[in-house]
Amino acid sequence: RTNQPNLENFWMPFTANRQFKAAPRLLSGAKGMYYTDIDGNEVLDGTSGLWCVNAGHGRTQIVEAVARQLGELDFAPTFQMGHPIVFSFAEKLAAIAPGGKDGGLDRVFFTGSGSESVDTALKIAIAYQRAIGQGTRTRIIGREKGYHGVGFGGISVGGLVNNRRVFPQIPADHMRHTLDMERNAFSRGLPAHGIELAEDLERLVALHGAETIAAVIVEPMAGSAGVILPPKGYLERLRAIADKHGILLIFDEVITGFGRLGTPFATDYFGVTPDLVTTAKGLTNGAIPMGAVFASRKVHDGLMTGPESQIELFHGYTYSGHPVACAAGLATLGIYAEEGLLTRGAELANYWQEALHSLKGLPHVADIRNLGLVGAIELRSRDGAPGARAYDVFVECFRKGLLIRVTGDIIALSPPLIVEKHQIDTIVSVIADTLKTAA
Ligand code: PMP
Repeated sequence: RTNQPNLENFWMPFTANRQFKAAPRLLSGAKGMYYTDIDGNEVLDGTSGLWCVNAGHGRTQIVEAVARQLGELDFAPTFQMGHPIVFSFAEKLAAIAPGGKDGGLDRVFFTGSGSESVDTALKIAIAYQRAIGQGTRTRIIGREKGYHGVGFGGISVGGLVNNRRVFPQIPADHMRHTLDMERNAFSRGLPAHGIELAEDLERLVALHGAETIAAVIVEPMAGSAGVILPPKGYLERLRAIADKHGILLIFDEVITGFGRLGTPFATDYFGVTPDLVTTAKGLTNGAIPMGAVFASRKVHDGLMTGPESQIELFHGYTYSGHPVACAAGLATLGIYAEEGLLTRGAELANYWQEALHSLKGLPHVADIRNLGLVGAIELRSRDGAPGARAYDVFVECFRKGLLIRVTGDIIALSPPLIVEKHQIDTIVSVIADTLKTAA
């Protein structure tokens, strides 16, 4: 390899770096469903990059919109001023807002990433409670195995032990349950059992007092914990308990937003409307970093004009509503609309489900889960080395020209929403071949 860069100076995100340096995989190009690596090999993208490139790679409309915007207005602050494109992007987003046109969450706050969206939503929730005269409500409840990014806000409410281990001083009050994997075994659709897990919220309310709790945050479908589906009725029950006690409900839709489940948002899929929704990733098709928090009018208006709203929330990022990100986002929404991508997952869901479940019974397969265009194949651990087998499968699939994502023993799949049936067949057959020979 002559064109391989020096690998020393880029400080990689903290996952599996050592393994990477032993066998570097370097992507240098991308178009549609495929990456190209530096040796010129095609790699089918089974993960939409990192759950974000929902419309596929290198889309001309986005490329042109970004280039045009950079030439016209590269940056402008959105503090005490604005620029037209940030307003039009927010308006277009409001038209597809989680929860529908009327009563939906059509107030949009822009951030730079999913982690920033989570921080923003937590701050809005606490500030809202204060503004409506509920200043004692400062506690946020998250869920065991919840993943909400890597900011201090996100890890303080997150429940993945690895993300918090180094920071034991961070306060958190977790709901003590997790969505139950065993009950999900070989799920086809949502598991029927486990709704009682929502009652743990009642237990925590009784323990801490409703007057101390501002909000509860959950991923409607847990992504990073391994694609764990909520039991039927579980999210409805959370909504009901939260309402009963004046607690806000936050859905973290950084993964599920923008068509992943075959509806624009998981909020629409489950028919449960929270008070705040965090997004990023598919918002700009991954092309330019950006996140957005959708808020209900109740939350927006309460925070802005409630009886105790005199103490203003100081919150906003240099890059909130960045014009180039807005241009990328507007072009992305245009593609989603023209190609019907926000509902394409529903059209393909059955095909996807049948394809994935054809892997049932292959060596090492412990469980298969799917929803919309998300899939998870949970493998049995190799003795004494959790995650090692899945990592080997990842390396071998990549060698065969397929990008998958593994977390622990779980293979997570989330192809771009433009995926064709023959590409679904390829994804499944490469994984099948790999599993048949895996140690
Ligand atoms: N929330 C959820 C549910 C996520 O899956 C992620 C990232 N995968 C984040 C938040 C954090 O987003 P980011 O990496 O853009 O900060």
